[in-house]
Amino acid sequence: MKVLVVNAGSSSLKYQFINLTTCHCLCSGLVERIGQESGHLTHKRLPDTPHRVVKKEEHQFADHAEAMKRVSALLTDSEYGVIQDISEIYAIGHRVLHGGEEITHPVIVDEHVKNVIRRCFPLGPLHNPANLTGIEVSEKMFPGIPNVAVFDTEFGMSMPPSSYMYPLPYELYEQYGIRRYGFHGTSHNYVASRTAEFLGKSRDELNAVILHLGNGASASAVRNGSCLDTTMGLTPLEGLMMGTRCGTIDPAIVPFLMQKTGMSAAEIDTIMNRKSGLLGICGINDMRDVKDAVKKGEPRAVLALDMFVHRIKKTLGAYMAVLGRTDAVVFTAGIGENDDSMRSRVCANMDFFGIKLDEEANAGRGDGPRRISTPDSRVSVLVIPTNEELSIAMETYRVVHEH
Ligand code: AMP
Repeated sequence: MKVLVVNAGSSSLKYQFINLTTCHCLCSGLVERIGQESGHLTHKRLPDTPHRVVKKEEHQFADHAEAMKRVSALLTDSEYGVIQDISEIYAIGHRVLHGGEEITHPVIVDEHVKNVIRRCFPLGPLHNPANLTGIEVSEKMFPGIPNVAVFDTEFGMSMPPSSYMYPLPYELYEQYGIRRYGFHGTSHNYVASRTAEFLGKSRDELNAVILHLGNGASASAVRNGSCLDTTMGLTPLEGLMMGTRCGTIDPAIVPFLMQKTGMSAAEIDTIMNRKSGLLGICGINDMRDVKDAVKKGEPRAVLALDMFVHRIKKTLGAYMAVLGRTDAVVFTAGIGENDDSMRSRVCANMDFFGIKLDEEANAGRGDGPRRISTPDSRVSVLVIPTNEELSIAMETYRVVHEH
């Protein structure tokens, strides 16, 4: 059972082709700078195949359709491909940012679904149009193969109103859908299931705080397996400090800046999304580079790291306060899975909360899910690698199979 997972961005197309029988990715790739003068494609044939093969191409891709055509050819290529014929693709799963309140579960794409994605353009102006393009291109390129939309907002849709409402005039929610939706849903959902499995619990018994710390970062409070709260809101800007996003700030800063500088709303939006976070404080957005700068004693990098930790830690405390019983604190994504000193700093001095990190286990390496708390820690601290593409592939299969 093989599923193609597509994540279409405004000028990029990411894909993974996943064998669900083994849960292995057969090949993956990225087409970048679509629509620009010099496009670039990287295609990797991965573990299941006898040896890893990487193909890189510099080529001008006029649009997403041309990029997808090349991907389709590579999938069946005698040297770089992994299937004989396109008909071996069971279904195509698309990552879609925003489904608003209308679609809360993965669905087979039809005209109604496409209209909902279109209606949500204002809520996800960078992602939703690109996601829809990815779907439309796939429909043309692979006729007869079902397309499934998996929404990043799905997990957050189980939040109760007390979590998802903003304390703004109620009419703004009714007229414009201004509420908290939450993002990174496929990751939080996948990690919640793997956490329950790891602890030997059923998913609906799980209470946990999940810390998805990557270039984008978010936390969620999971109660009885569902999302009680999550840090991202109407858009993926709210919440924790991130690589280039500011996360939560005083909203009055926006009108203040508009009045002081004459900047437009769009310009301030760009600052908050692309020029803030770690990058805004120390000029570096990649955590590994920030840490190198910290080692050299650069004060702004030290500050950026301290702020990053502080904001995670206070969210962790807040989520444990609303959860009460907490079975696990779970670290995932690039920083969460790989940065032991970050985990150590986040969990420091939390004996009071029942969190005791086993520093040796924390410093150890490992690919799979693992416990990094001491045996007597009331709350289990875990590292659970996320796999958003596998999660999308599994959901895609389930939806088509049950159809
Ligand atoms: P993601 O968005 O999940 O791919 O995560 C990307 C982030 O993870 C970047 O900021 C990377 O610097 C960070 N990252 C990856 N490996 C490490 C590591 N060993 N230590 C610290 N940060 C890491």
